[in-house]
Amino acid sequence: MTRTVYVNGEYLPETEAKISIFDRGFLMADGVYEVTSVLDGKLIDFDGHAVRLARSLDELDMQAPCSKEELLEIHRELVARNEIVEGLVYLQVTRGSDGDRDFVFPDPETTKPTIVLFTQNKPGLADNPAAKKGAKIISIEDIRWGRRDIKTVQLLYPSMGKMMAKKAGADDAWLIEDGYVTEGTSNNAYYVKDGTIVTRPLSNDILHGITRKAVLRMAAEAQMVVEERLFTIDEAKEADEAFTTSASAFVMPVIEIDGVALGDGTPGPIAKRLREIYLEESLKAAI
Ligand code: PMP
Repeated sequence: MTRTVYVNGEYLPETEAKISIFDRGFLMADGVYEVTSVLDGKLIDFDGHAVRLARSLDELDMQAPCSKEELLEIHRELVARNEIVEGLVYLQVTRGSDGDRDFVFPDPETTKPTIVLFTQNKPGLADNPAAKKGAKIISIEDIRWGRRDIKTVQLLYPSMGKMMAKKAGADDAWLIEDGYVTEGTSNNAYYVKDGTIVTRPLSNDILHGITRKAVLRMAAEAQMVVEERLFTIDEAKEADEAFTTSASAFVMPVIEIDGVALGDGTPGPIAKRLREIYLEESLKAAI
């Protein structure tokens, strides 16, 4: 089946979708994105993603390409047309193209943003074998720019981080700045010691994860203790367990950091419980 994608108001077969070579997303990574999970054919936390998209656009002085209601309609239409039961909807908005290359932003009156959405079919997303195994993590230096709270498409360093992890025989990398863990290459990072969940507080240094917000709320509702504070990789290595959160991998247990096994080297009880609660609650609230 040829995938149907959405480009600037049109639903098209992926082979017919076109973007200008002058698009600022392509030339300058002048764009933002969101990834929303689909479970049971429904969108997980659509509202959270729509709110964060609006904030990213606002922070970059970029126009919204359409209303939140239209965005929801496009997401649903793509899920239906591509028959997605479990998978992802990728959304990208860029500052568009004024037909040339210039560092100066084009006039928003004449240059409209580019909007692209496509689906990714991922059967087994919820019942992911990788989550049963747990992830091995390496730590690397965080050399990204200073506005990681804006979800831009500048993903070269995160991508290089995943490659460094792969080369080291691990699954992913956590990033370290000034001696403290910021977050994972594409997820937020947590460790658990003596029943307390520790994670870095929100700031411009990390992405404000939609899954992070939901998981911290669910942890509090389940009477779990959460401390939002800076932590080092050495603290995390001495933890009983660790995990990451993201919209596409939900709660992912971490079993090893820089070659050091955590606890008994298998997914920990708090990570496993939070994954269960998150999947159950998110499915109930899916739209
Ligand atoms: N941090 C980074 C750097 C990310 O790329 C992501 C995933 N987009 C996250 C955290 C997790 O955010 P969310 O739960 O909204 O997917």
